[in-house]
Amino acid sequence: MHNEKILVTRSSMPPYEEYIEAIKPLWDNRQITNMGQYHKELEEKLKGYLDVQELSLMVNGHMALELAIQLFDFPEGAEVITTPFTFISTTHAIVRNHLQPVFCDVKRSDGTMDETKIENLITERTVAIVPVHVYGNVCNVDAIQEIADKYNLRVIYDAAHAFGVKYKGKGIGNYGDASIFSFHATKVYNTIEGGAVAFSEHRFYEKLYNLKNFGIRGEDLVTEVGANAKMNEFSAIMGLCNLKYIGNVLEERRKRYHFYRKNVETIKGIGLFEQNEDVCSNYAYFPVLIEEDYCMTRDELYDALRENCIYARKYFYPLTSDQECFRNKYGRACLEQARKLANQILCLPFHDEMKIEQMVKIIDIIK
Ligand SMILES: *Cc1c(COP(=O)(O)O)cnc(C)c1O
Repeated sequence: MHNEKILVTRSSMPPYEEYIEAIKPLWDNRQITNMGQYHKELEEKLKGYLDVQELSLMVNGHMALELAIQLFDFPEGAEVITTPFTFISTTHAIVRNHLQPVFCDVKRSDGTMDETKIENLITERTVAIVPVHVYGNVCNVDAIQEIADKYNLRVIYDAAHAFGVKYKGKGIGNYGDASIFSFHATKVYNTIEGGAVAFSEHRFYEKLYNLKNFGIRGEDLVTEVGANAKMNEFSAIMGLCNLKYIGNVLEERRKRYHFYRKNVETIKGIGLFEQNEDVCSNYAYFPVLIEEDYCMTRDELYDALRENCIYARKYFYPLTSDQECFRNKYGRACLEQARKLANQILCLPFHDEMKIEQMVKIIDIIK
């Protein structure tokens, strides 16, 4: 127990026998990929669970975002307003579409894009906004839509962290022109690797189908320059199995989230993000902010936890705009809050099977 490693997360998996039983039919019909029966079934079930009109399954969240951006045929070199306080995938997806990221600052209150700073960044070359519901914290979707409407911009949400989140009673995937989810092993809900694009316009379903399957529309017919980004049947079955337990996973996370919160919010120098009353959370992460009046720096606390075999993570540090591949390359406003958050943030180990003793050990070390 003393030297047991506590990792930042742990993948949810269904009972072994249940998955083995569920994949058996694949040995009979031998259709293990190419939009088979389980791919269809999972698309339908997720549409229901996420409460969205349309959904296209993808091989992972990153390709979901790349293809969701590609849907709109933006002119090469056009500008996309986005956040640097995210996983590198968000910025990569914009740049790999030959678009220019323009970095907008975020809010201290929840780490999402600061909607009051968007309009200043809009130029005649701006075509879209790509905000992130970081840690499942919901962006100010109403204000962002208002700006998008005023300037005729598309909004594509990176909702990789926001599986199952509801805003004002509606599935989070209903906002903007499209939203992407990640079903990576480390996320709240996984298909081992996987992802999806949620949207409302039905014609995007066909277009995404082309983009994820080489543009093949018939034995001898290719109509579009597509990639290969389709989900295979083993992943789809993992998704179907995991979906049965998602209610339980979210409930276990909720309990642990409140236990952590109650115990760390009183510690001097430990800051927490605000909770939004309109949001039904998925408790995807437990981020804390190590502020100036804490007894050590974020990096010192990170090291102290490591010495006790506790592997917290500095998500998201550094800002994507400061990474070697993007540094000094793209337009940005003053990123004061984002930079400050990146230097203070620490995601504590957190998942649905975490033991209370493990949480107590972490809380005691922080104290
Ligand atoms: C995980 C993640 C992605 C990418 O998803 P993958 O399924 O790992 O490809 C994109 N954006 C954010 C914010 C993420 O956390």
